[in-house]
Amino acid sequence: MIPMVDLKNQYKKLKPEIDALLDEVFETTAFILGPNVQKFEQEVASMLGVKHALSCASGTDALHLALRAAGIGPGDEVITSTFTFIATAEAICYVGATPVFVDIDPLTFNLDPELVSHAINDKTRAILPVHLFGQPADMPRIMTLAEQHNLVVIEDCAQSFGAKVNDQYTGTIGLAGCHSFFPSKNLGCYGDGGMITLNDDTLADEIRMLRNHGSRQRYHHDVIGYNSRLDEIQAAILRVKLRYIEEYNHNRYRVAQQYSSELRDVVRTPHEDKIGNHVYHQYTLLSPQRDKLMKALSEKQIANAIYYPIPLHQQKAFSKEYADISLPVSEQVAKECMSLPIYPELTQAQITQITDTIKSQL
Ligand SMILES: *Cc1c(COP(=O)(O)O)cnc(C)c1O
Repeated sequence: MIPMVDLKNQYKKLKPEIDALLDEVFETTAFILGPNVQKFEQEVASMLGVKHALSCASGTDALHLALRAAGIGPGDEVITSTFTFIATAEAICYVGATPVFVDIDPLTFNLDPELVSHAINDKTRAILPVHLFGQPADMPRIMTLAEQHNLVVIEDCAQSFGAKVNDQYTGTIGLAGCHSFFPSKNLGCYGDGGMITLNDDTLADEIRMLRNHGSRQRYHHDVIGYNSRLDEIQAAILRVKLRYIEEYNHNRYRVAQQYSSELRDVVRTPHEDKIGNHVYHQYTLLSPQRDKLMKALSEKQIANAIYYPIPLHQQKAFSKEYADISLPVSEQVAKECMSLPIYPELTQAQITQITDTIKSQL
């Protein structure tokens, strides 16, 4: 049995460090906005080289809070990818704005900047690129477009913690970067968690206030805000894992290279465009024989998954409003994509078993 991610094995290795910090949390009973949250925020800010790192309850909330603090609302259009997890677009809807779904580059699965430029009009207020599967979107071109048209850029970094474009980490290039610490993400906690990274002081102050019931001073509420905080337990776990994130991402990259060298001739392996470095949140390949490959893997107890089977413009939640748009690249990729298990602890023997199973079918 090979899972998509092996969190149990990882916990075994981290147990002494995590348990020690957790004992401390339980002893001190500072469960909300306590010292681990504060330290975790400082540690991320210092690693990413960004002024503010503000934790919140989930990656979805991070997107929601960033969009709201940036003043995006009803009547505004936000350009984003149709080929992503639905949370990206949900957050746009939560603030009352309209998601404008744009197609992807067929090689990287990231937003196609040329198509983004065609989608810009008088109502456009923001671009929300997703660094899908851990590979940075084309930020140089997206930032240029944003500057030309005076648009806000909010990065969805839920899958890209630790990835860089040149010497800048994702999440520090646009106005704000939104991270998720869902357990299976590259940096995951043992529950839900999220974070917004940014350099703008005014926006940071606004987000800090919004995440804590619209309050800057206890029992003084400036606006209707939210309860969206990271708890101490999750922060303590994340502080331990943060020490290893570069090593984890390095190992994910190693696994991906091993997959690609074995599979290059039989399927379309992931394309690295070198705009940034790929941190392989997912290893996603394309094959017209996908269904057959998935069946063969499942029979051998090897986990596999489709990220994503339905582009957002075709989801039931959106399909009424977007019935007449066609985004052919995403629609085709959704038919042929499949993802293999990828995690830092995956062994050479496991990788060989997986690639042999695939090659035996083609
Ligand atoms: C996981 C994910 C989110 C949402 O994060 P949660 O912490 O689960 O709310 C948003 N966008 C993308 C691309 C994701 O993969």
